[in-house]
Amino acid sequence: MKNMIDAGMNVARLNLSHGTLEESLERYSRLRQAAVELDEEIGILADLPGPKVRLGTFAEPLLLETGSTLQLEPGEGQSTSSVFPVSYETLLEDVQIGDRLTVGDGSVVLDVTDNNGNGLACRVLFGGLLQGRPGIHIPADRLRLTTPTNDDLRLLDAFIEVGIDMAALSFVRSAHDVRRVGLEPAPRGPLIVAKIETRAAVENLDGIITASGAVMVARGDLGAECSIEDLPHLQKDIIARCIALGRPAITATQMLESMVTAPSPTRAEASDVANAVFDGTSAVMLSGETAIGSDPALVVATMASIAERADQEFDYDGWAHQIKRDRLSEPQSIDAAVTDVMTMATWRAAAEMGVKAILCVSRSGFTVRAIARFRPQAKILGFTPEPRTLRQLTMSWGATPMHIERIDDIDATINRAVQLSLANGHVRSGDVVAVLGGSSATIGSTDTLRMVRCP
Ligand code: PGA
Ligand code: MN
Repeated sequence: MKNMIDAGMNVARLNLSHGTLEESLERYSRLRQAAVELDEEIGILADLPGPKVRLGTFAEPLLLETGSTLQLEPGEGQSTSSVFPVSYETLLEDVQIGDRLTVGDGSVVLDVTDNNGNGLACRVLFGGLLQGRPGIHIPADRLRLTTPTNDDLRLLDAFIEVGIDMAALSFVRSAHDVRRVGLEPAPRGPLIVAKIETRAAVENLDGIITASGAVMVARGDLGAECSIEDLPHLQKDIIARCIALGRPAITATQMLESMVTAPSPTRAEASDVANAVFDGTSAVMLSGETAIGSDPALVVATMASIAERADQEFDYDGWAHQIKRDRLSEPQSIDAAVTDVMTMATWRAAAEMGVKAILCVSRSGFTVRAIARFRPQAKILGFTPEPRTLRQLTMSWGATPMHIERIDDIDATINRAVQLSLANGHVRSGDVVAVLGGSSATIGSTDTLRMVRCP
């Protein structure tokens, strides 16, 4: 874990689909400990499984031949070479003849040919290797299950108890699913990450983004839900909408997949990471590469260097102008409208003056995320008195989380932020910086911008 932090990891995802709650909680404390020892802010994201349907465990790896036949039966238990139990009670009622089911992020595709009352007969359209307890993708509009499941809420409770920073919801279909989590908004509750991996979510995108703290382009399941040729464009659209609305976007799954075993990525994978950066993603995610891969720290280092290089080539100006056009069409409140225009004004002032840094003082971190959407070339220092906000800012593009004491007076706050930036070597005496903050006497949101020459 320490090696991964040293290599550039900012956020660690605990995928709760695997292992027991106790194991995940243990991993959580070890991560916290590692971050403390290295004196780094690391965000931790608990990823709730949602209604993920799985096949019974394969005692040993099974190579499934294209063209062979097999039977799926509702229930638990072990898979044999021709009968696979499926952890979904109403399988026989909900799945139709002619449906295509994919197993294990697309490695095997099945065509449902018959329903004989006990099970579904399937023909293997594309064969492959099955091992462990693979997930099986049933089209979301056939599924009766909703997210979050009772299991999800139980897992989430346990992680709230220990102070989790962020929680991801799988298979979200509407803003209602996100609101069903019923937590206090961040930073009092965790930042909720909605995973976009169903067709319904793509259709209800704006509502879901607005109800969430961040979004994940969950390409593994999304790629099974939609046509594969649509996937790159959905990725672009989801990221663009998300950033315009001031929420971080994560691009996930198979980014450096070959590095589960190989020491360097394929050329296509290297391009994929760089292109996600060009699409405007706030974060890039690794899954199997670091969970079961042969050299997790090397994968993180590889991804970090590809992303840094892509950052140098990013079209900052073009992006900011695009965001200016696409930003909040109808802000939901006066506060949101003020944050929207103040962050735009700050980006503008910072660009025209060529300032060294943008110092942004924010309790919830929302203003920092709103500034980050413009991708300013000055570094963003995100000041907050809230320890959890600091860790939530690890997922924001380009923001360095900075702790500041709670100060009520706006002038004193601005002076202190400048002082801390100087002390930490982010700016030097004589540099001009833009400072953005809120004077608590007036509006609840960020309403003050000041250009300051560092003493
Ligand atoms: P998962 O989510 O790894 O939890 O399935 C990501 C994805 O579907 O791409
Ligand atoms: Mn998924």
